[in-house]
Formats: sequence, C-alpha cells, structure tokens
Amino acid sequence: MSPNDPSLRSFIEVRADSDFPIQNLPYGVFSTAQDERKRIGVAIGDFILDLAVCEEAGLVLVEGAAERLFNRDALNPFMAFGPAVWSATRARISELLRADVALLRDNAPLRKVALVPRAQATLHLPFHVASFSDFYSSLQHASNAGMILRGPNAALMPNWKHMPIGYNSRASTVVVSGTPVRRPLGQLKVGDQPPYMGPCGKLDFELEMGFIIGQNSPMGEMLTQAQAERMIFGFVLLNDWSARDIQAWEYQPLGPFLAKAFATTISPWVVTREALEPFRVATPDQDPAPLPYLRQSRLQNYDVTLDVTLQTAKMTSPKQISRSNFKYMYWSSLQQLMHHGSTGCAMSIGDLLGTGTISGNDKSAYGSLLELSWNGTQPLELGEGETRSFLEDGDQLSFHGYAQGDGYRIGFGEAAGTILPALPVPV
Ligand code: MN
Repeated sequence: MSPNDPSLRSFIEVRADSDFPIQNLPYGVFSTAQDERKRIGVAIGDFILDLAVCEEAGLVLVEGAAERLFNRDALNPFMAFGPAVWSATRARISELLRADVALLRDNAPLRKVALVPRAQATLHLPFHVASFSDFYSSLQHASNAGMILRGPNAALMPNWKHMPIGYNSRASTVVVSGTPVRRPLGQLKVGDQPPYMGPCGKLDFELEMGFIIGQNSPMGEMLTQAQAERMIFGFVLLNDWSARDIQAWEYQPLGPFLAKAFATTISPWVVTREALEPFRVATPDQDPAPLPYLRQSRLQNYDVTLDVTLQTAKMTSPKQISRSNFKYMYWSSLQQLMHHGSTGCAMSIGDLLGTGTISGNDKSAYGSLLELSWNGTQPLELGEGETRSFLEDGDQLSFHGYAQGDGYRIGFGEAAGTILPALPVPV
C-alpha cells in the first residue's frame, strides 16, 4: 500500500488536525533530557519514532549502508543514499507504524524506547546546511516590493519574468525554530544625513518555504528536469528575517548582503517531496514562455496553506496577520533549482534554497510587514491596542503550514522566533 494512501491509519492515535499523520512522516533531529545524544526521528501524532532505536533493532535498515545512519546529528549521510532509498525507507517506516501491522504495535518493550513524546524532546537543525541561496519568485511580492521601493512604473525589473531571481546567502546563520533573533546592528542612512552604525529600525519577516537538496550535482553541467526533481529531498517553512533599512542603503548594485545574513529560521521537520505528491498543482501560466532550460511539466507547485501569527509582548494571544499559499509561486522550486545549476554551479547535499517571500493577491495574503504595512505608511492593527509597521523587541512571530487532505493534513509544524533587543554598538 502506498505510504500516501489516505485510508492508512497508525496504531498511534492521531487527531484529524494533527500536522503529523501516518501519511506525512517528516524527518527531524532531536534529543531528550534522558538521552542528550542528537539522533534522527520521524514525527507521528504527538510522538517521535526514534529511528536510531529502530535501526539498532534491525527494523529500519538502509540497503548498502556500511554504517548506521540514524544515530547522527544531521540527515546529510542518509540523504546521500538517494531517492530510491528515501522512498524505500519511508515505505518501511509507514509499515512499522500501521495499525494493521503487529511488528511494533505488539512489541511493548520496543515501543517504550522507540516512541518518544514530542513534548519531551528538544528539536535541532535537521541537516547540516551546506549553502543557502534565496530567491524572489512570487509575482505579487516582487510587484509589491518594487512598487514600494521604485514606484509603480518600475515595479518589476526587465529580467524578472525570464528567470528566477536569487542571491547567495549565508548558511552560518540558519537556525531552528524557537531560536531567539537578535535585532541586528548595521550601517544606516537617513535622508541627506551621513551614514551611521545603529540598530535596525525596520526589522521584518519574509514568509517562505525552503527546500533541501539531497543529492550532489557535478560542477560544469546543467540539470535536466528529471535530474533536478530527483535532487529535492524535502521542504521546510523558512523565515528570511530582513533588515529593510540596512538593505535599502547597502543593496545597490550587488543585491542584499548583511540585511538578510543575520538570521534565517526554519521549521524542524523536513516534509519529504514524496509526502507532498498528492498536493501538486499547476504552476501559474508563464508569459513570456521560459527558455527551454527552464521548461517543466505542468504540476510543479504545491497547495500548502501558510499562516503567520504575531504576538507582541503586551498581547495575551497571537493574532493571525497573513494567510498565503505555496501554490502562488510564479517560478516553481524545480525551476529555481534548474536555474541555480544552469551555469554549472555545483549543488551539494544539504544545500538549502529559499523560495522567496510568498504573497497572494490581496493584503490578507501578503508575506512581509513591508507589504502588510506598505513600508510603514499603513500600520497593521493587531487588536489589544497594538499596531505594527515593523517588528519590535519582544515580538513573537510564528509560521505554520499544511497541505489539507481528505480527513488528514500534511503539516510542517512551526517556524517561530522572538525578537531580542539589539546589543550596544561597540566603542
Ligand atoms: Mn527572502
């Protein structure tokens, strides 16, 4: 039976609104107070199936592996085995968790050590981030940002509809959900005044998805669609925290540099490309037609609802400030990857690619405060007497995402972070 079959049920109880039914099986890296070693697990309902325990018990084995793969602190060694192994491993884990399979269900001693309550686990970065590149591929976001920064006549640059625009960012500051984010210091310039060093005054979030490259590609070669598809291991939620005022002064002529390099938050569970297969939808019509190296078969976007909530230090509960969807992307993740490799740029296991901010057509679906407050000209009403143009110290921001199936959802968990005040400028 396919691990994606909607009728599958686990012997572990899973609520209909849980992010982690048996059809999902996302991978993460966790530790517990009892056992502080980082290891790999799969989320199921309110539990984590400890794959290191399953591997040791001989229940989940990777064909051809000379060493154990799941008692590791990152998914990279497992990802290296490639898509056939990813698929076989997911099918095996699905089988172990099925309500009608006795192997784990009826082995109480093994269940006791292999199933860890998620509430008792600490989650870590799920993979070693080799490199991180970020794109700019939502038509609505690029149009909004262009209108705000350059005016309505120059909103979209002439290259935008011909290629997925992107930049090489920093892997060193990618952090897992829950890690606090320090307001950055940076060089700023206001009006005709000389530039100065100080705390960012326009701190923003960017609602994105990230996708993880699970296979290497050789330097010097373009990628075909088939190659590129086989290289995508899975997806996470991604917040590309942005310092708009630092960016405005530094970005010409080479693009963002430090304004986006101080922190990037990802959700801890990697949802596999396979788990999202039932939720493929058409990429929007692309006119002009992309060059041949960017052509793709039709269904390359995914229907994943994306929610953003904000809670300030004074508020008693979080307020939803945006609902967008991964399917709004103009350029698909596949096209982003094909483009990234097109000059012969080698891709590596553990590369993280950000989709770019995902905005929908109306304000309720905008994916950044730059758009939601129209660069501070229309502050956002949060209730409880609070408004925001940009993020302030103590603000808690959180992303959630899920693909809705019939009676179950493929969820992504959470990508959250709280803003800490800037440190003083060293003298
Ligand atoms: Mn971004």
